[in-house]
Amino acid sequence: MAILKVSRLGHPVLRNVAHAIDPKRITSPEVQRLIDDMFDTMREYSGIGLAAPQVHEGLRLFVAGTAAKPLGSVVSDEGEMPLMALINPELTLAGEPTELGWEGCLSIPDIRGRVPRAPEVQVKAYDRAGRQVAFTAKGFPARVIQHEYDHLDGVLFFDRMVSFESLTFLEEYERYWVRHEDGEDDDAE
Ligand code: ZN
Repeated sequence: MAILKVSRLGHPVLRNVAHAIDPKRITSPEVQRLIDDMFDTMREYSGIGLAAPQVHEGLRLFVAGTAAKPLGSVVSDEGEMPLMALINPELTLAGEPTELGWEGCLSIPDIRGRVPRAPEVQVKAYDRAGRQVAFTAKGFPARVIQHEYDHLDGVLFFDRMVSFESLTFLEEYERYWVRHEDGEDDDAE
């Protein structure tokens, strides 16, 4: 178990396209240790997702979620997002990436911005046991998965923003934006 150093905006590893992991290597001690360390690191920094390039590993792997529960065929906004480690994931967006929602990133500390994402996504990947899994993610989990997947292609959430008007430091986010949006339709602005 170890807390890994998180790469920050400007480090080239965040802009490179990550390499697929040979499925036969998924159960190797090296990959299993990396997955354990990524879960530890994500928890340490109170993240809900962490991709391998964020810990200086150019591999197509990310971890996400908050609750130790099995991964069903649908991961929705109901209940906590199950913990998952996804290897060589493939996403198919269902619907246009037009739903605006707030995102932050452990590699871009203390910044928030509103990012358009698809409301639903079909996910195919290997799990940490080397098994192929397929499920549908909706709502916030779909957003987290799209964010983490982007890291594997060297894409950061800034790149997806259609306007920087909502770009804000965390302190100002909490002071001005959270309260401001109470009771308002997110899409109405
Ligand atoms: Zn991120």
